Parts: sequence; C-alpha cells; structure tokens
Amino acid sequence: MREPIPEPLLSERLLLGPGPSNVAPEVRAALARPTIGHLDPDFLELLDQVQAMIAEVFGTNDSLTLPISATGSAGMEACLINLIEPGDRVLVGINGVFGTRMATIVERCGGEVIRCEAPMGEPLDTDRFIGLLERERPQVAAVVHAETSTGVAQPVAALGHAARRANALLVLDCVTSLSGMPVALDEWQVDAAYSGTQKCLGCPPGLSPIAFGPRAIERLQRRKVPVQSWYLDLSLILGYFGEARVYHHTAPINMIYALHEALRRALNEGLEARFARHHLAHEHLVKRLEALGFEFWVAPEFRLPMLNTVVPPVSDEAKLRRRLLIEHGIEIGAGLGELAGRVWRIGLMGENARIEVVDRFVDTLEPLLKA
Ligand code: PLP
Repeated sequence: MREPIPEPLLSERLLLGPGPSNVAPEVRAALARPTIGHLDPDFLELLDQVQAMIAEVFGTNDSLTLPISATGSAGMEACLINLIEPGDRVLVGINGVFGTRMATIVERCGGEVIRCEAPMGEPLDTDRFIGLLERERPQVAAVVHAETSTGVAQPVAALGHAARRANALLVLDCVTSLSGMPVALDEWQVDAAYSGTQKCLGCPPGLSPIAFGPRAIERLQRRKVPVQSWYLDLSLILGYFGEARVYHHTAPINMIYALHEALRRALNEGLEARFARHHLAHEHLVKRLEALGFEFWVAPEFRLPMLNTVVPPVSDEAKLRRRLLIEHGIEIGAGLGELAGRVWRIGLMGENARIEVVDRFVDTLEPLLKA
C-alpha cells in the first residue's frame, strides 16, 4: 500500500505584488459552491448577470461582454487575433512588457506592427500616437491602459477619438485598471478591451472579461481568413453566449461563480467609491515610503494607484523582498524586463487597497530596512 499523498500546506500571504491580489472570503466561498452543468438554466442566468456586470465595470452599454476561459493574456490574444487578418497594419503602443507582448501576438497572426514607443516609466506621447494613426492608417491600434511592468497610467480618451477618426479599431488592455480606476469604453470610443480577474477585481486568476463593441463585431463578421485559434475564435464562442447556447467548450463553472461574486462586491461598493479607496491607499503609500527614502519611478500625474513602482534604498533588494515573504508572509513584486533588480512593484489592488494594509506593510518593512 502506498503512503497517502499529504495535503499541501499553503500559508496565507498578503499579496502586494502585481497580482494576484488577496481574495475576499465571500469570493472564496463562491468558488466552493456546488458545480452544476454549463447548460443548467440556473447557471445560464448567473452567466447573463456576469455579462451585464462586466459591461458595467467596463463602462459600456454598446459592447458584447463575456469572460474568456483563461487568464488576461488569453483576453489579449482573443481581442487581437479576432480583429487582425494577415497583412493588416497594427499600431501598438510599447512602453513596457505588456505592449511588447501585444506586438508579439500581432506578428504571430501575420500583422505588420507599427511601433509607438516610450521609455519604461513614461506614457506614450499622445501627439505622436495620433500622428502615426493619421499617417500610417492602421486597421487596428492597441494600447495598455495600466502598464503593470512600470506603473504607468496611459491617458486614453484622445487616442480613442483619434482612432475613430482614422477608421482604426482601438484595443485596450485593462487587465490592471479594471475596477481600480475609471474605465469608460463607450466614452473613450474603445472598440475592444480585455481584463483579468486577479488584480483589482480580487478574484483568483483564471478568467479574462472582454468587451467587443459594434465596430469590432462587424470586423469579426467580415473576416476573410478564419481566426487561427479554434479555442479563442469569438465567432464560435458567441454561439454559446447567444440565444442558441451552442456548446463550444465547458464553461469553468466555479470560476464564474467567483467572478460573479467579485463583480457583485465591486458594484455594491460602488465604482467611484472603489476608485477613491485605491487612490487613498496609494497616496498613503507614497507618503509613508517617501519618508523612508524611497523614490517613485513614475511622475505623479501618470502614476497608477494600484501598482506602485519604487526604487528601494538598499543594495540587495532581492534579499529584503525574500525576507518580507518568508519571514512575514508579505509578497511584493520585483522589477520586470529592463527594470529587474532596479525597482519594486507594490500592488494595492482590490481588497488590499486600504490604509491599514499599507500601514501593515510599511510597519513591517521599516525595521528590516534599518537592520
Ligand atoms: N496585461 C497586463 C497589463 C498585465 O498586467 C497582465 C498580467 O500581469 C497581462 C496582460 C497578462 O495577464 P495574465 O498574466 O493574467 O495572463
């Protein structure tokens, strides 16, 4: 007889990195609800509610919204590959790791990438981006609203209006911004957007809420070449999300329960109140860390409230991060890409965007720094 395989022992952590963030007990309880069938009328009703709540957090009445059954990168891929056909020209804003990832996906579906670049830590230059839209006349343009690799917030409204004038579809990455700062797809004239569940929504990773506006749907319907991915082909997925409920793949039922609860919590709190909570927690972190000699990587007007990139005043940042995790159960993020070893990324997302969480983190950090 084999020895029984022991259950894993996982400690509770305070998740102050770039995501996942901590999950509220109510969302965890929702995950543990009994699994039912993906065509059960009770599940379908819940799914309809999830779609409506996704639309509300994205600030859209016009778009078709649904959760893609995979993490944020699948939402990114779904938005891009459904809208781009081989030979299409795509203007991509690149000022961090996630803009770079979008460019890679565009190339993989045979698109021609036109790059609009900015240094890591700065937003894209609006005039330059608009100039490229007007001159290059791309079919699609894509930008990241909240660049998690740098902590930069990208102003979007002017880009959306310019893309519409230039007859380009605008795709927006809202993985880190959604429900932590204003997102207004209809007002900004964004045609397609995606997010992830594990950041400000405070749900485990595993789903990617997306929104497809009327112009994006029209582009999808007029495609000449089939989407190269079967799993992410929206023209097939929409069969399940439409009246006919045609089987495409088995919806991840329990994750959808969790997302339902996370969205319900966000909307019951009120989006404005939630944005204000993220903002206040961020301001408190700035005040407390600057008092300890930390510098913020991004200029104040472009800082994300939920992702704070700081330069730690120590020589061995990795050792201090490890002590925080192993000795105190607090996770913070390392620098990514070019910023590896140079910065920390401190997430104050969803449940963790609170003054008392900031105080717990800084009160733990301070004596470690002084040691
Ligand atoms: N886009 C941004 C801005 C992100 O921060 C992330 C993840 O951190 C992604 C895309 C990819 O999401 P995921 O890791 O859930 O696949």
